[in-house]
Amino acid sequence: MKKRIVIIGGGIIGLSTAYYLKKEATEVIVVDKSNFSSGASYVNAGLITPSHIISLASPGIITKGIKWMFNSSSPFYVKPRLDFDFLKWSWLFKQSATSAKVKSSIPVIRDINLLSKQLYEEMKSENVFDFFYENKGLLMLYKTDKEGEAEWNVGKKAIELGLEVNLLSKETLQNIEPSVNSTVKGAVHYLSDAHMTPVDFMQQMKNYLIQKGVVFKTENEVTDIQIKSNHATTVTTTNGKLQFDELVVATGSWSQNLLKKIQLQVPVQAGKGYRIETETPTNINLPSILLEAKVAVTPMEGVTRFAGTMELGGINHNINPKRVNAIANAAESYYDQVKITTEEKTNSSCGLRPCSPDGLPYIGRVSKLTNVTVATGHAMMGWSLGPATGKLISEIIFNKPTSMDISPFQVERFS
Ligand SMILES: Cc1cc2nc3c(=O)[nH]c(=O)nc-3n(C[C@H](O)[C@H](O)[C@H](O)COP(=O)(O)OP(=O)(O)OC[C@H]3O[C@@H](n4cnc5c(N)ncnc54)[C@H](O)[C@@H]3O)c2cc1C
Repeated sequence: MKKRIVIIGGGIIGLSTAYYLKKEATEVIVVDKSNFSSGASYVNAGLITPSHIISLASPGIITKGIKWMFNSSSPFYVKPRLDFDFLKWSWLFKQSATSAKVKSSIPVIRDINLLSKQLYEEMKSENVFDFFYENKGLLMLYKTDKEGEAEWNVGKKAIELGLEVNLLSKETLQNIEPSVNSTVKGAVHYLSDAHMTPVDFMQQMKNYLIQKGVVFKTENEVTDIQIKSNHATTVTTTNGKLQFDELVVATGSWSQNLLKKIQLQVPVQAGKGYRIETETPTNINLPSILLEAKVAVTPMEGVTRFAGTMELGGINHNINPKRVNAIANAAESYYDQVKITTEEKTNSSCGLRPCSPDGLPYIGRVSKLTNVTVATGHAMMGWSLGPATGKLISEIIFNKPTSMDISPFQVERFS
């Protein structure tokens, strides 16, 4: 039977879900409070990251966070607040930041990343899209032995898990990425990774979905969800009500508040990140992470993008110029040819990463309702995990075997 499916949220997770649902010939409506052109899914670094096997909630991060709390230009910042959801999230985060929990989530993160990368490649090969996608791996650049050693330990774990990773000396690095300057001591190169241009992909995906008959409802905020016995029936939006057979909640950092409307506790905190772009040629060949500064550098089509910071400070899009400057300064200190202008800094933008306390996304059905699925909490990997999430949600809705075990992503695991 043809189903009418409403997806709330048109970021990479919502659009990827629409893509896979539409393959099942259903009626799909994507509702978003914005006009589908801004936010995390547009400002991100575009990295496809099987290399990111260690979740943010890892031993040592709490101490680092406390140290960085007093530094206005630090890459990681937690704004202390007397807010119940934030305090509960912080407690759950601390509970998750143990070696045992990190170890158990490593293969899960690897598997969903590899699945998603394969799906991006499948989309690319279908020839209905013409998006920028390069498979050159990711360099983790270091200036200090301490960062280099710590990253190589992660690299060795990744090798044990079957990923291809090389430790590059200063000379080898200079050969493959001559744009880095002589202060960079070496790199760990994850050949598993790829990179894209997010704005370009989002636009192509929207065009494709419109052409396939997906309906986009722009500037429609969902303010309530109506329930009748054990299923959801309608959503109230700022432009009227919408009925459906199935509802998908893919509202990123706003998910916790919206899900409270159906009495669900799904902890999500917004992790703000900034991006700066330059059109001036930088001669950078390979996407990289500047380890000491925690800045991502991506050579995209026509621009080089610099992205960084993780600010846990609630839902807001305020730009802190000190953190923008810190990203620009870091970029200039790793590459001689990079000079970020005042105008490029002024044009910086930000987005909110939807962070779960344990670094794993929420993907699955809500237990007490027969027709509501949730897809959120992807934090630093939402761009990478869009296609895998969309495919899994479509398999769940159409009662098909899932492409991987989804039990680690249980929506109500903190209830
Ligand atoms: C600076 C930066 C760099 C990053 N780099 C990378 C990277 O290199 N690789 C990677 O994998 N990930 C990266 N990420 C993370 C990634 O961008 C996010 O995880 C991902 O975009 C989240 O997608 P989403 O669809 O869940 O959320 P969003 O993109 O935030 O979309 C959610 C949508 O829901 C809408 N919405 C919310 N509430 C409502 C409501 N009530 N009614 C209607 N609409 C609603 C919002 O308007 C929004 O459009 C980065 C993020 C940032 C900020």
